[in-house]
Amino acid sequence: MKKIYLDHNATTPIHPDVYAAMLPFLKEDFGNPSSVHWAARNPRKAVDEAREQVAHLFNCDASEIIFTSCGSEGDNLAIKGIVESKKDKGNHIITTKVEHPAVLNTCKYLAKTGFDVTFLDVDSYGMIDIEELKKAITAKTILISIMYANNETGVVFPIEEIGRLAKERNIIFNTDAVQAAGKIPIDVKKLNVDIAVISGHKLYAPKGVGAAYVKRGVRLIPLIHGGHQERNRRGGTENVAGIAALGKACEIAMQDMKEESEKLTILRDRLQKGLAEKIPYTKLNGHPEKRLPNTLNMSFEFVEGESILLNLDMKGIAASSGSACTSGSLEPSHVLVAMGITHEVSHGSVRFSMGRDNTVEDIDYVIEVLPAMVERMRSMSPLYEAKTGKAANVSFSSSDCSH
Ligand SMILES: *Cc1c(COP(=O)(O)O)cnc(C)c1O
Repeated sequence: MKKIYLDHNATTPIHPDVYAAMLPFLKEDFGNPSSVHWAARNPRKAVDEAREQVAHLFNCDASEIIFTSCGSEGDNLAIKGIVESKKDKGNHIITTKVEHPAVLNTCKYLAKTGFDVTFLDVDSYGMIDIEELKKAITAKTILISIMYANNETGVVFPIEEIGRLAKERNIIFNTDAVQAAGKIPIDVKKLNVDIAVISGHKLYAPKGVGAAYVKRGVRLIPLIHGGHQERNRRGGTENVAGIAALGKACEIAMQDMKEESEKLTILRDRLQKGLAEKIPYTKLNGHPEKRLPNTLNMSFEFVEGESILLNLDMKGIAASSGSACTSGSLEPSHVLVAMGITHEVSHGSVRFSMGRDNTVEDIDYVIEVLPAMVERMRSMSPLYEAKTGKAANVSFSSSDCSH
């Protein structure tokens, strides 16, 4: 069976050159980079070199990079580290309703411990309103944390504008750039961000490594107290193999970004057009233009996204759905709900996220097999029958996982 992977926003395969860059540090170059003897030399050099490579992706200085264990750690470090160091100045945080759980749940946790959090709304395209952000700022606002690009819809936020505003008001601005990394440029100087977070495994490096850019002069309290690693900002012996991998992945991303994003845009648009033409009652979730080149989130009305995923999986196609039907309770995606999309429509959503190994043939295969699947599922839906007058051939809904 053909295997087609269209779930790169969940995780990416490891690039062969990235894999090769890790290997010495899992074998002969095992030393602790902080040691003073021969065994430390190559590992230390690798960490230094990776720091330069990652800094290059952000257009910052190597001293402004902190290596972490994942994107979630970076988000926690940025948010908890800033509010802890600024709590004398104020207790107000601004974020959005559509952040990744690493930001959303960190902010919800802080809201329970005495911080005041504003969760900004988005419009039906999943876009925030700068005027709303301006209105939300108070004298007590110490942090704005807004993602660069949304993992579910691919919507890209106006980070440069937000950065300018935050700078004017003297508020620290963190952006979760995990989905942006490698897909669109993250020039922290141009964007005026104080902190930006990335994760290795969304960028063709392995799981368990990430990095945060923290602008020189921005003081944050460490999440992990310990040794003097990362200039006292993150204790713990360095994950040398992971760090070397992340460095290599950033280098490759810088080299290939332009060409890759052009290719991915073509695949994304081909899939969107192909599905919309062949399948009635579809809807694009997200902004038609302000969107990552690789991400397509579509709703297929009258069917469950989960059922589509199972059917796609049987054909070797890996995709993802915004909603998760877990232990009998159906929770629609918080992102689609925030966009005001009805529960029925959001339940029929599927996210296709393309990556560097995907081809036109992959896309055409999905366009070939998905319409018949949706048609078959709809033929069993009384809702579809009611709406379209087409006969449903069973008397119950196949999509009843809400109780
Ligand atoms: C995946 C992801 C994260 C979390 O990264 P991990 O390395 O898996 O912890 C954070 N934010 C966004 C937008 C993501 O897509």
